[in-house]
Amino acid sequence: MKIGIDIDNVISNMDDTLLKEYLKHDKELRGTGIINHNPYNVRCGMFDCSKEEEETFYKENIERMAKNFRPLNGAKRIIDKLKSEGNDIYIISGRDNGEYSEPREMTVEWLKKYEINYDELILTNAYDKHAKTIECKRNKIDIMIEDNIATCQDLKENGIKVLLMNTRYNQENKDLERALSWDDIYSKISKSY
Ligand SMILES: [Mg+2]
Repeated sequence: MKIGIDIDNVISNMDDTLLKEYLKHDKELRGTGIINHNPYNVRCGMFDCSKEEEETFYKENIERMAKNFRPLNGAKRIIDKLKSEGNDIYIISGRDNGEYSEPREMTVEWLKKYEINYDELILTNAYDKHAKTIECKRNKIDIMIEDNIATCQDLKENGIKVLLMNTRYNQENKDLERALSWDDIYSKISKSY
């Protein structure tokens, strides 16, 4: 099988890192802490700052933060297992979105640092929810693992099987097949062999 895998919040712990960084930034800035415990995500009204202030902080720091992401538990182990069973691993990430100076170089380096093995690395623009669908079709991907609801829905509507990686920010979706962990991803993919 050709397995498509997103990076941020699927292989990497992006949300955890951002939450830590935003808490630290808030402490240095005004120290009002979390004012909304149930936002759409850490960037959307969780802290007492304006949209402009948040955007500036994000833009100025995302590249540094991304270099510090760590792989989620089990990601490397299960990807290695899937590869050893003859699957092709296509890493498909939306990092070509204007937020990184050299998205491919930094991503290749990060994957190498954590010894994540793959066959292809494809970068799309995360702000276009249809971009991954185009790449999945072009590369004949059998199943895509992704945490973004809109991207998953677009993939599904276009006939591509998806597994929604569970994150604290995509709980509102009840329709998509959800994977709770990398071991859960493995058991769900094994069933579709
Ligand atoms: Mg993601």
